[in-house]
Amino acid sequence: MSQDKRQKRDLHALNPDGMVLCNPRDKEAAHRAEVEGIATDDHSAVTCRNCLDLLYKLSKEKRNQ
Ligand SMILES: [Zn+2]
Repeated sequence: MSQDKRQKRDLHALNPDGMVLCNPRDKEAAHRAEVEGIATDDHSAVTCRNCLDLLYKLSKEKRNQ
């Protein structure tokens, strides 16, 4: 399989505040994500590794509560 260098951009997850999960303090990033459609509430569609990591940790924490 050959890897296309012009990959689609990663799809990020949004946290409950509407911020990008892997960059929750950056309002600009949240705005860009919204405008450019690179963030989603659909966690099964997320491709950003950092977001997936955080989603995994969050769901684990929830289970422990
Ligand atoms: Zn992300």
